[in-house]
Amino acid sequence: MLYCEKAFRSSFHFIHNSRLTYHVRSQPSLFRRLTVSFLQWIDSDYTLESPEAIRAQPDGVNLVRCIPFIVLHLGCLGVLWVGWSWFAVWAAVALYFVRMFFVTGIFHRYFSHKTYSTSRLGQFILALCTGTTVQRGPLWWAYHHRHHHLHSDEPEDAHSPHVHGFLWSHIGWITSKRNFPTDYTKVKDLAKFPELVWLNRFDLVVPLLFAVSLFGLGTWLETATPSLGTSGAQLLVWGFFISTTALFHGTASINSFTHLWGRRRFQTTDDSRNSFILALVTLGEGWHNNHHRYQSATRNGFYWWEVDPTYYTLKVLSWTRFIWGLKPVPQSIYEEAARSAHNDTVQQARQSSVQEEINAFRKVVPTAAAIALATVNSPEVATQLQKKDGPAMHKDVSGQVAAPNPGNAAGPASTDI
Ligand SMILES: [Zn+2]
Ligand SMILES: [Zn+2]
Repeated sequence: MLYCEKAFRSSFHFIHNSRLTYHVRSQPSLFRRLTVSFLQWIDSDYTLESPEAIRAQPDGVNLVRCIPFIVLHLGCLGVLWVGWSWFAVWAAVALYFVRMFFVTGIFHRYFSHKTYSTSRLGQFILALCTGTTVQRGPLWWAYHHRHHHLHSDEPEDAHSPHVHGFLWSHIGWITSKRNFPTDYTKVKDLAKFPELVWLNRFDLVVPLLFAVSLFGLGTWLETATPSLGTSGAQLLVWGFFISTTALFHGTASINSFTHLWGRRRFQTTDDSRNSFILALVTLGEGWHNNHHRYQSATRNGFYWWEVDPTYYTLKVLSWTRFIWGLKPVPQSIYEEAARSAHNDTVQQARQSSVQEEINAFRKVVPTAAAIALATVNSPEVATQLQKKDGPAMHKDVSGQVAAPNPGNAAGPASTDI
């Protein structure tokens, strides 16, 4: 319904009637393919083939389709021309964290998992906010994330570092042709809202407006408050290009690093992990093993010491009634975590006692060997060993032997008589 209907019907017809004809249709000219890629920058649902056919293809980078993504990274080099100012740098940092909240609190915890509720207008405002993150549409994001949870670290998983390698899980998968379409059948709960579908389809509109707004703000500040030392171009480079590129890699670290680094509290069927450092970088998403164990909770940090700024912000927002119905972590999950912690403690205690014995053994053996060697090689012992006869053999015991009785020439032998 949302891709080129005519082309799809045509392809569908050929699929069922002539494999050769379909092959011809599925291999349009280079010019045609370039045109389609350019059109897809504007309308992400425009395609010559059905989304199912595209998703069935093997992975392969679509360079033309990725040009905006490449430009985003190259735009960071603009800093060589525009320089820096404290205002621009702090704007980039602030926009990173505000938009990271949009990624984690909205893309992830609302659109992907529906861990809280809001009104239809509220939902639309949330969707507009996610547009500034330049991570495509909310339905595309939610579809791919739900797919990840269904097939975590399995061959079907589009960005598993264990299946596809680190680089592909971090950045490669997003450039693959087969990962561009949105499967609307997997996000029916969202696809029933035309305003969300429109934002998903024309996913370049909000990012462009956002970039233009930053440029306009910088231009205005340049004349209104020259003491800030900023300009339109400078705010565009720092606030949009640098901040958005960092935001992409911060978000992508959840796909790559959190399935490689950190601790596993829950024995999930994937290799998700909890990481404090990644929780700081991603405002709470680093508690990925918790999240894989129970995805419906609004919080990813299950305990007070597992820092989760996204949850704190959502909690504050719930006090305003803009959102409501935040979902808690069930008691059964906490009990499972407690059992896991107990088992870990026992395991660590076992390992530590065994390790202690090994360490003690390692210390004792060389020490004993050293003492033995030192003893053998000491001058006193060497002297004693060199003596063939010990002192006792040569001890002059004559003084201790009773003098023979002068009157008894036979000596002691006569006493036996
Ligand atoms: Zn994951
Ligand atoms: Zn998730």
